[in-house]
This record gives sequence, structure tokens and C-alpha cells, in this order.
Amino acid sequence: MSEVVRIAITPNEPIQWPERCPQCGVSHGLVEIKSHVTRETHSYSIAFFRVFRETLSFYFPSCHKHAAQNRFAIFWLRRGGWMALFRVSMYLACFLTLFAGLQLAVGKLTLRYHLSQPGFTIFMLSGWVGLGISFWARKAAAVFPVGLDTDRNIMEIRFSQARYAREFKRLNPRTTHRHLVEKTVFFMRSGFWTLIVFLVAVAFVVKTFK
Ligand SMILES: [Zn+2]
Repeated sequence: MSEVVRIAITPNEPIQWPERCPQCGVSHGLVEIKSHVTRETHSYSIAFFRVFRETLSFYFPSCHKHAAQNRFAIFWLRRGGWMALFRVSMYLACFLTLFAGLQLAVGKLTLRYHLSQPGFTIFMLSGWVGLGISFWARKAAAVFPVGLDTDRNIMEIRFSQARYAREFKRLNPRTTHRHLVEKTVFFMRSGFWTLIVFLVAVAFVVKTFK
């Protein structure tokens, strides 16, 4: 079972990592994997809208073999950018296959022409291959950087093994302490009020131009 751990970022308390591979547990021949978490915060007024991007890097030990797997899995599962766009098209391909299958089942195949095109078939197949890789990557990413809390200096890391997560928390008792990393109540979060302001603005525009 995977577990997401929230860690408070304090300048005088660096993160301690278990001296073993998070995947297989070996403690010799370890290499360091560089990873990072990012967050985007928005600042706006009548005249401007700005996006601030903050990045925090960290290193964790892993054996040689699993380091390569974990690096690739992090790359595959990362949010935003081209990989996210690629994943969306992959899900679309899977959806189209299911749709064509459903049509076949009821004997009404409107995608007949498309299915006869090799490019389309390759596209649909690649969707399933991609989905398979995503399932594999969830397991292969023993340490996955989820992100930075938008309101507080807290980062989230997903560990694929609960045992490793427990060991990690034992090594970082203060920075992972419940009281320090508790989630902010929804109405105290800046994102909540941004959404309210946005909805009010949309309602105002709709009402004005109706
Ligand atoms: Zn390993």
C-alpha cells in the first residue's frame, strides 16, 4: 500500500532518509536520486495576473537498478508539461477502443473507416501500452514527489511501500508530526477563496451580458 507523507520544510532541519533502497531494501552501493516538488501560486489584481513557480529539490538514496526505474517512473508520472498532454491522448485512445468495442457489441460500428487505418490502430494500441506503463510506474516510483502545499511550507511525497514510509517518519519525527503538517481547513485555503472570487466574477459577467 502506498502512503503520502506530508513533511514540513524547515531550514534548520534537513530531511533524513533511510540508508537503504526504498524498493528492495539493500543498503550497499547506493546512489542519490535528485527529485523536486513544485507549486504555482497566483497573484492578481484588476491590472495584472502573475504566476509564481517555486521549486524545491531533494535527494534520496536508492540502489543502482531501482534508481533508473524510479527516475523513469517520476518522469512518466509527472504533472504538467508534455507528459501530461501525452497521458491525456493515451486515455483518449483507451476510451476510443472501449467505445469501438461497445459499438461492435451492439453491431453498430461507426468507427469502421477509422479502424481500417493503420495509424489509428497504432494510436489505440499505444494508449493501452501507455496505460500499462502508468500502472507499472505507480509501483516503480518507490519515492514520488507529489508537490508543495499551496498555502504552507509543506511538501508531499508518496511512498509505494508503507514500511518505508513508517521508517521515514521515524527518522523525521518532528517535521512529519501531525500537528505541524495537518491540512488547512478548506475555507482557510487561498485556493478556496480564489475559486469563490472566480465564480462571483463569472456570475457577474454572465448577468451583465445576458
Ligand atoms: Zn533496490
